[in-house]
Formats: sequence, C-alpha cells, structure tokens
Amino acid sequence: MSETPLPLTEVHPGVWLLDTDQFGVPGQGGIYLLPGRPAALVEAGTSLAQGRILAALEALGVRREEVEWIFLTHIHLDHGGGAGALLKELPRAKAVVHGRGARHLADPSRLVASVREAVRDRFPLYGEAIPIPEERIHIAGDGEAFPAGGDTIRAVETPGHAPHHLCYFLEGEGLLFTGDAAGLYLGGVLVPTTVPPSFDLELSLRTLDRMEALGPRLLLYTHFGPGDPRLLGEYKALLRRWVERVEAGWRAGLDEAALVAEVLSEAEREGLIPSGPARGDLAMSVRGVLAYLEAREGRA
Ligand SMILES: [Zn+2]
Repeated sequence: MSETPLPLTEVHPGVWLLDTDQFGVPGQGGIYLLPGRPAALVEAGTSLAQGRILAALEALGVRREEVEWIFLTHIHLDHGGGAGALLKELPRAKAVVHGRGARHLADPSRLVASVREAVRDRFPLYGEAIPIPEERIHIAGDGEAFPAGGDTIRAVETPGHAPHHLCYFLEGEGLLFTGDAAGLYLGGVLVPTTVPPSFDLELSLRTLDRMEALGPRLLLYTHFGPGDPRLLGEYKALLRRWVERVEAGWRAGLDEAALVAEVLSEAEREGLIPSGPARGDLAMSVRGVLAYLEAREGRA
C-alpha cells in the first residue's frame, strides 16, 4: 500500500498549513505548524486530527519534545478539542488559551455537552476532548508575547465569535492567525460564523477594527488558509447584513425552523453557502444570531 502524502502546504516561509479533513471533508479546517525554534502549533483541531499532526511534525523534522506551544484561538472543539490528546504526545508543550477558556480545557464536560446540543447529529465528528492538567495550560494575557517559530507571536484578545477568543499575530512577518474572529473563508467565499451560545455583533465589529489596526500583511484562517487583509472589512459588512436579515425574520415572528429555512435559502441565492458541511454550520449560525438578539433584547 502506498502512503498518502500529507496535505501539508507552506503558506509563507516557515509557516505550514495542515488540512485536517475536518468533518471528513478537505479544505474546511486546518492547523498551522511553525517548525522554527521554539516550534509551535496554532490550533489543535479535534482529537481525530492527532495522527496526521504527529506525522506532519515528523515530516518537517520537528521532534515531539521540541514543540513548546499549542496556541489555541478558542476552545470550540474544532479548534481546541484535540489539545488534551496531543499534549500527551508532546511532552514539553503547553496549551495557550484565554483565561475565560482555561477551565473548559481542564474540565471539558460542560463544553462537550453544549457542543452536543448545538451540533446535534454531527457530534461524533468532533472527536473526544480529554481534560488537560492545569500545569500544561498557559493563560495568555492580552498582548502577551511568546518566542515561537523563529519569530515573536503575540496573543490578541478578540471577543465576539466567543468571549474567550484570541488571535495570534506573528509580528516579524505580519501574519495574523484569525481563528474564527474573521469568519470562515472557504473556497474563496467569506461565510459568517455566529454560533451559539455567545456570539456578539458589537464585540465582533470592534474586534475586526482591532485586527485591521494591527496592519497584518496576510490573514491565516483556521477555516481555511491564507486570505487578503481586506477580508476584515468585507466581513464587517457581511456580519451587519447577516444579523439584519435574521433580525427581520425574528421581528416578523417566524419560528426558528422557518427562519433558518428562509435565511439559508436567501444566503444560497447570494452564493454564501459553499458545498459540504458548512450548510449545517450556517444553520447553527442563524441560531447563534437569535440567541444574541434575545440576549440583547433582555438587556435593553
Ligand atoms: Zn468557534
């Protein structure tokens, strides 16, 4: 049997993107590897990505004990769910996370239950999240700098998609790892990701301003790959339209199922829906906007 070559691409000198075939589909989710010293990963993927990540490190000539950091943008399972399993194989590494996400890495049970509720029948595709011992969790402060990948990587607080979201800025090269803060960028199409339980429009827009102010030369999307920094401005406009559209149906009194169907068919006409599992994600994103609107109304 011949070995399948790894879907590993150098997206910038010294920065490699590994396609994890998230949810069984190529081009949906990835993790970044920085083999320069000290070696680091950005994102862990789900536990289902583990074998492929270890093979990619080997292919890049990085020994397991040379990896010092796993920079997690946030703890949603497609980003951080596999971190616990991976840390068992990377003896010196620590998972870097926002303070508000740390307890869910130490005890993922509540997070796993909420994901099960949100993604319904797609839950098995999220792998298994195992608890991470506290001494292997590094809580990053806003602006904290880490030597990594032969450069300096800075954690940037970027709430909105989730309150505990961090982006990471590779300063020398001007590369910004966007996590989910700048939406999804799938096959050249920008797609909203406004999932429950804590999407917040105002925070997202402020975060996008902050990301623009960093002056990145290139965006690196977890979903999926490199993108032009102008996408930050485009995503702001897209988010506003997306929330307005859900709000219109909500004010008209549509029930959740009808609202999801209507918003999705409109999005389809606009070419907002790429093929693959992103359709299910988009339905979840409609529910996330509803939760945001209800919470905002409750605050008013
Ligand atoms: Zn997320």
